[in-house]
Amino acid sequence: MARCYAPRRGMDGVAAGACAYPDRAMKTERPCSRQTCREPAVATLTYVYADSMAVLGPLVAKAEPHSYDLCELHAERLSAPQGWSVLRISAPDDAAAGPRLRGL
Ligand SMILES: [Zn+2]
Repeated sequence: MARCYAPRRGMDGVAAGACAYPDRAMKTERPCSRQTCREPAVATLTYVYADSMAVLGPLVAKAEPHSYDLCELHAERLSAPQGWSVLRISAPDDAAAGPRLRGL
């Protein structure tokens, strides 16, 4: 099934309607889980309820029931609920094209 997850709208020099992220090129490409957001996910947020911790790490290949995919913008803006802490895990060096999630 060929489907474009992230059609651009003329931004970034990409023609309107062009598919910037064909799924055959990036099999793990998924959209941001925020409903109003159409950006491709670059990070995965997982809630560890036992420790009241939100773990933000590199995008995982397989979606988990308690994880949420976030685009770069929403990953950066992430704030934990009150009483929770956020653990940011940097992507491996080979993810040069990915976001920089090192500590703020
Ligand atoms: Zn987003």
